[in-house]
Amino acid sequence: MAFWEVGTGSKGYDRGTVKNWTLRDVAAHWDHSPNYDAQNAAIDSYMRRFRDSAPLCAFPKNARVLDCDCRTGNGTVFFSERYPDARFTCVAMAPTFKTRAEANFAKHGIQAPVTVMTACRLPFDDASFDVVLSYETLEHVPWPTEYIEELGRLLTGNGTLVLTTPNTLWEPVHALSAFLKFDHGEGPHRMVPRREILAAFAHAGLEVVTEKTFVLVPAGPNWLLVIGYWLEKMLPKWFLRMIALRRTFVCKKSTDLWWHKLKADVIDTHLDTACGTAVGISDGTLAYQEQNGALSIVRTSNPAPVPRAVYDACPARFCDYPALNRFVFGKEPQSWLTGTVEQAYIGHASDEALRRAGASGGVITQALIHLLEKGCIRGAVCLRMGNTDPWKAEPVVARTREEILACAQSVYSETPVNTILATLAQEEGPLAYVGLPDQVAGIRKLQQMEHPSVRHIKYVLGPYTGTQMTCEAIRSFLRSNGVRSEREITELRYRAGEWPGKLKITLKNGRVLSADKFHYNYLIPFFITRGCRQIPDFMNELTDISVGDAWSPRYEKQGGGFSVVLARSAQGKDLLESMRSAGLLTLNEIPTDEVLAMHGHMLDFKKRGSFIRNSWKGVAPEYGYRPAHIPLPRIMIEWCLWFFFTAGSTRVMRWTVEHLPLCVIGPVFTILRKSWKAASKPTKRRGLREMKFVTDDA
Ligand SMILES: Cc1cc2nc3c(=O)[nH]c(=O)nc-3n(C[C@H](O)[C@H](O)[C@H](O)COP(=O)(O)OP(=O)(O)OC[C@H]3O[C@@H](n4cnc5c(N)ncnc54)[C@H](O)[C@@H]3O)c2cc1C
Ligand code: SF4
Repeated sequence: MAFWEVGTGSKGYDRGTVKNWTLRDVAAHWDHSPNYDAQNAAIDSYMRRFRDSAPLCAFPKNARVLDCDCRTGNGTVFFSERYPDARFTCVAMAPTFKTRAEANFAKHGIQAPVTVMTACRLPFDDASFDVVLSYETLEHVPWPTEYIEELGRLLTGNGTLVLTTPNTLWEPVHALSAFLKFDHGEGPHRMVPRREILAAFAHAGLEVVTEKTFVLVPAGPNWLLVIGYWLEKMLPKWFLRMIALRRTFVCKKSTDLWWHKLKADVIDTHLDTACGTAVGISDGTLAYQEQNGALSIVRTSNPAPVPRAVYDACPARFCDYPALNRFVFGKEPQSWLTGTVEQAYIGHASDEALRRAGASGGVITQALIHLLEKGCIRGAVCLRMGNTDPWKAEPVVARTREEILACAQSVYSETPVNTILATLAQEEGPLAYVGLPDQVAGIRKLQQMEHPSVRHIKYVLGPYTGTQMTCEAIRSFLRSNGVRSEREITELRYRAGEWPGKLKITLKNGRVLSADKFHYNYLIPFFITRGCRQIPDFMNELTDISVGDAWSPRYEKQGGGFSVVLARSAQGKDLLESMRSAGLLTLNEIPTDEVLAMHGHMLDFKKRGSFIRNSWKGVAPEYGYRPAHIPLPRIMIEWCLWFFFTAGSTRVMRWTVEHLPLCVIGPVFTILRKSWKAASKPTKRRGLREMKFVTDDA
């Protein structure tokens, strides 16, 4: 760690905190404030920081206390009188503060080592302190979010943080008093808004136990101070929170830290994509609950704390694609539109029955069967419809050709495949794995962490993923057809029959409901999942092989089923080539340009749209790269889409669509979709292929 670490701002959590001062600048300011104590002696509010906060907290017996920044040591002296058995450790932001604090402690007979702060990372082990005091320091560090996280790191579970910082409203008063030389001035600082502080506490696993805002009159004649105190007693708490000077927080560090962090960073920020990773590796501490048709994660009654790996592996909030590409492929992709591609092909399974069993060309199914029959794997993780309930898909380890075949085709309703990680370590390996982009990202993160749950996974394959729907979509379709419950279903296929396939639902009474693929797509705007609008990965960029439909008039005219196949890793390419040589796959190389042309619409939806949509969120996921520029007309298109999706998610719209017959809504939707595509095409396609991206480390 560099001495006097430069305050280049927050890398991880909140780019809004970037500031350009350093700890050295802060130290220089305090080193040039020789009258610090003398000036503060005349300011009533100075000692109030300690006096006001002391009744709000209680130190445990023999508490290990960190005072950061201790300035000239007055806080430590104050609290050591209240808690003589406490053992204090101090951090000072300036060398002169260290010297003066040491002199102060010598005078009061206090043993407290003082370290000068030279970086955000403080030189103490995790969970070293029962209490951390941080008075009027947050606003001086160049990286407030990381600073709070660091204080959280140092606390023991259930430890107490006492933090005070000024209300941003008082910035002009501070500026004026510094200008008039009433006090030592604030030096380099930024007063941190309350919302940002609360988000940082949540991110650090700190629960606010008490929050109070003190001081209306910081200094002045006695009569004025008395009025100030009286007003503080009389005015309501919420009003003081708005206008008083000093925000005082007492926080407890959560004993279930990683659940707290997952909740704060992913669940409460609505970034959860329901990939299943967290639940899968949570040792039974987390589970899914369906709410209004969508899946959400809940804490189970299992008293064990949620394991740290859950937070680290979750791809929703932090998913560093450049780093994951380096981990999987040993390099970053040549194009962020397609991801790393060794070779692109158009093709299908040569076995016509297998080809027709697949969603497009049966390539994934054929690859899994080939790996199994060659003995390269002992099983394949894939998704099977109706394993337990006929209307639901469930992840399974398929161990025979028949079982793999039973898993063929696409499942368009939200299914958290990675819940299977709960049992995967005990399975016999090696295994192949098939998943959607967020699920694959979860697997790759776990592989990077060398987590035991993924130790058997040797091959990773996956479909392109444009849009997905919540479980409520099928219920709505059933209700449109006068069927009350999904329990009436005996079989459900999303891509039954000839490519591109139909939705086919067989009911207990023998009735069969079906809808052409492009007709039942009308459900998408009404039931689209949050996750597929958020993730910028369309072509399943972290797989060994990814496969999509070859949407091109040339192949659609021929029928039978064609896939666009991307070999991403050397291992993926070898596998495809060996299947081609063995006559199992019919494959023709195509240039990347053709790959882009086939899916321009969806690529734009992900590579521009996701970044626009995510930028509108309170907290945006971090992918380690982003488009260098998105033109304004494209942003306006996204506003229109936002309007459609928001309107579509309302009850009234869902009710209306349910009451329109499929023979009307299907064709009408197809016409509307085509018109929208044609109208938005010039804007969406303009500059798409030449799009530039920047990576965060660039
Ligand atoms: C939700 C979703 C959206 C898609 N969107 C597009 C798109 O916009 N454009 C496009 O070109 N292609 C899209 N695809 C891919 C396309 O539907 C085919 O899956 C792909 O072409 C592979 O065809 P195949 O015949 O080789 O696969 P198959 O041989 O049929 O094998 C498919 C494999 O994928 C697994 N699988 C199916 N659904 C899921 C799921 N939900 N989660 C995890 N695993 C699953 C199956 O278990 C099976 O092993 C999407 C697929 C899905 C699941
Ligand atoms: S790991 Fe997946 S399912 Fe779990 S919280 Fe993160 S996004 Fe949601």
